[in-house]
Amino acid sequence: MAWGTASTTLMHRSKLFNQTRWQLAVWYAAVMGTILGLAGFTTYQMVAHSHWEAVQQELQSIAGTLHDSLEPKLKQPGQLEPAVQTVLPNLCLADHHCSLLPEETERHTLNAFQQSGYYIRFFDQSGILLATAGQVPTGLSTQLHDRNWQTLNDANSVRYQQYSLLLKNYQGLPWGYMQVGRSLKEFDDHLVFLKLTMLAGLPVTIVLIALASWSLAGLAMQPIYRSYQKMQQFTADAAHELRTPLATIRAIVESIRDVDCLTTAEMQEALAGVDRQNQRLVQLAQDLLLLSRLEVSSETLGNQTATAQPACCLNDLILDVVESLSVVEMAAPIQLITQIQVQELLHVAGDENQLVRLISNLLTNALQYTPAGGMVTVTLAQEDQDALIHVQDTGVGIAVADQPHIFDRFYRVSCDRSRHTGGAGLGLAIAKAIVQFHHGRIRVTSELGRGSTFTVYLPLLQTGRGHA
Ligand code: ADP
Repeated sequence: MAWGTASTTLMHRSKLFNQTRWQLAVWYAAVMGTILGLAGFTTYQMVAHSHWEAVQQELQSIAGTLHDSLEPKLKQPGQLEPAVQTVLPNLCLADHHCSLLPEETERHTLNAFQQSGYYIRFFDQSGILLATAGQVPTGLSTQLHDRNWQTLNDANSVRYQQYSLLLKNYQGLPWGYMQVGRSLKEFDDHLVFLKLTMLAGLPVTIVLIALASWSLAGLAMQPIYRSYQKMQQFTADAAHELRTPLATIRAIVESIRDVDCLTTAEMQEALAGVDRQNQRLVQLAQDLLLLSRLEVSSETLGNQTATAQPACCLNDLILDVVESLSVVEMAAPIQLITQIQVQELLHVAGDENQLVRLISNLLTNALQYTPAGGMVTVTLAQEDQDALIHVQDTGVGIAVADQPHIFDRFYRVSCDRSRHTGGAGLGLAIAKAIVQFHHGRIRVTSELGRGSTFTVYLPLLQTGRGHA
């Protein structure tokens, strides 16, 4: 957690990461803002359209009902019969003065237009206004149009939607025109409110999105920053490891140059020194290449990494490695014990060379970090569907603080101690990468001064696959 906080603080200080974070946040806010703007505009258009449709349908329905009720009552073209008043009680003839609200307020089938904002107007065929009903706004144009639908403005600039239609008398002869209209004030107010809400809400939403994207960009970049830091660390460590053998080779070459005449023995010694350093460099390059290949395979092939590989017999591999290391065992008086705790042969799908490298790395470490007179035990056992390889030693042990880091590349508990053994701190990193490539797990338990136990779990080959 502390490392996470430190890493985040460092990330904030990195110009490259800060710049990228800003760019991400700005792009995200811009894209989201555009999407929201488009979504808001579409919603507005849809709401306006559906309201408009409702207004038109309402007007058309009232006009249609009036048309059906009035036509049988109309006789002389351009003349309103008294019978019309039974349908429209609040009818007001053009040359009469009428109060706005009719006294007769009894319920009527067509009293919708008696509500505020509705009006009806009758014209004869030459376009002269004959009568009105409902609340006719002042200043509204009385001109007849060819089109059925008109949008008009009154003296107060309030918009009205009007539907005009031709009326025929009971004999089917043209009588005149009827216009049914309603105020669009409520409709316009509603749309203005909607527009203002969206316009005010959009900047607030964009600011909130920008803040959220800034913090999300930071979160998203943390793992990238950690890998970036690891890469930087790796480059520094690799350069450090290369520097020592290269510097030694240079020193040897310079010392040869300075001497005028070298004896054959001196020349042999110098060449052996160069060769040793060269071997070290080759080993380092090979180890790094192997690590990189293992990681690439694990990342790109995922679950298919080792499962497509041939079956390897762990019993044979362990015995082979122990046999090859017995020479080392001879050199130092350390007891190397092999315990095969299974009756049958245990097979895993994998790369035989890599599995040999895994066992050999663990055993070499155990032998290297165990003082003379100690004991190293390698055990093969089975637990459920896993093969277990324990490598236990009675050596120097690893401090609890170092245990989480020993599988990192170039990590050495004690540089001096490791240099003495010739290790570059890659042995356990390679072991872990091999275990992961084979979909297994590796654990360590250790106590300073008492020894360490490395346990490898490898998934056993499913029965049904042929053994090699
Ligand atoms: P190296 O190749 O330098 O030994 P490794 O990656 O194999 O590097 O090991 C990393 C560190 O873990 C070493 O510096 C060593 O001190 C420690 N280590 C590994 N195995 C053991 C062990 N069996 N006992 C004590 N220390 C160990």
